[in-house]
Amino acid sequence: MKTELISLNYVELEKLILDMGQPKFRAKQIYDWIYKGAQSFDDMLNIPKSLREKLEAETYIGAVKICEKYVSNIDETRKYLLELSDGNFIESVLMKYEYGYTICVSSQVGCRMGCKFCASTIGGKERDLTPGELLGQIICVQKDLGQRISNVVMMGIGEPFDNFENVLKFIELVNAPGGLNIGQRHISISTCGLAEKIRDFADKRLQITLLISLHAPDNEKRSQIMPVNKKYPIEELMEACDYYIEKTGRRISFEYTLIAGVNDNIAEADSLADLLRGKLCHVNLIPVNKVEETGFEKSNREGINAFRQRLEKRGISATIRREMGSDINAACGQLRKKKNSGIK
Ligand code: SAH
Repeated sequence: MKTELISLNYVELEKLILDMGQPKFRAKQIYDWIYKGAQSFDDMLNIPKSLREKLEAETYIGAVKICEKYVSNIDETRKYLLELSDGNFIESVLMKYEYGYTICVSSQVGCRMGCKFCASTIGGKERDLTPGELLGQIICVQKDLGQRISNVVMMGIGEPFDNFENVLKFIELVNAPGGLNIGQRHISISTCGLAEKIRDFADKRLQITLLISLHAPDNEKRSQIMPVNKKYPIEELMEACDYYIEKTGRRISFEYTLIAGVNDNIAEADSLADLLRGKLCHVNLIPVNKVEETGFEKSNREGINAFRQRLEKRGISATIRREMGSDINAACGQLRKKKNSGIK
């Protein structure tokens, strides 16, 4: 099988180049081309043709290509449909904030977690992304943008902790000083609550922000909208969260998608406050994005504000997620679904 170069760290790439009987400095040149977003060996102008041919025969870059791009007229949010080397599609979203650009990356082709409100899970999971395909999203969007991307959130298609080892390697690659050089504190991971993996992640003691998709304060409601809750019920999830907070000393953000008539009444805000009392945490309230197949609707503005105020009154810090790119339907998983079904 051919080696995928974009998934290698610098030391691994150097070894491969030395094993090919090439001088060390070629590794640095190839590494720089990959991080500049080279899509093919022919782009690598300072590499001799004979070496390019050898690379072509034994390896492939694994770069991610832009297939479609949408730019919001409201807030410059960009949404990308990206193509992988095997013809699969994923999505990335780029958001502009005062402090810089944040990219939201996908971690799998599809998802097998089955959350009822989510478009990414409708066709199930096709496969995991390699570390390089996670990284390639940042490289190709950064090249398109022409500016540095400073923050990364793993909140795109897929469940990052269902692709645990590749995500860890991705973090190593993103961190590398000679590569993208993005610090751990600028990376966030969102999980639907795979409790064992939350504990494993805590043991790594990384300085990464962890977000937990909670979306309901009790097992009955949570299991209805998130099947993963049947495997890892709330009690087990909360124990894993406590373990994470204890091990890392870091605050957890709980995401709570407000769906009209499903999980948005004031009694649920009270139950949520009871559940999170005393934890080092924050609640991010997200008005649900409409997905045709689900039939779920956003709670109204007053309802959302009231829910937030109730949490605050009960001593839980809570914010309402600003909706970005609403004119380009930046909600995740919808472009890929459309592309796969052949609808333009
Ligand atoms: N699998 C991970 C990360 C991907 S989803 C997770 O579950 O956390 C990123 C966030 O978007 C999660 O909180 C997810 O529950 C939420 N989400 C999914 N579909 C949504 C929708 N239609 N509207 C609002 N939030 C949604």
